Amino acid sequence: MRMESVRFCPDCGGLVEKGFLFCPYCGKEFAFKASVGEIIDPSFKKLARAVAVKTSISRLDTCRRALDTLEKELDEFLFERL
Ligand SMILES: [Zn+2]
Repeated sequence: MRMESVRFCPDCGGLVEKGFLFCPYCGKEFAFKASVGEIIDPSFKKLARAVAVKTSISRLDTCRRALDTLEKELDEFLFERL
């Protein structure tokens, strides 16, 4: 058996042929069957969503502050007219 055609199970340390999707000794599913893109993509989307939510919240906060300022200025303006 050539060494490059086998790998060790990360769970039980059993010697497993590389093409296997599950460890025949402990039943551990090997992650290498998924491509790097498949692993990274979901977490990247999650991160992008979290950033988008944070951006909308900070935008809302900016709008709220602008409205507060506007309200104050309007109050002052009306007060001066009275
Ligand atoms: Zn195993």
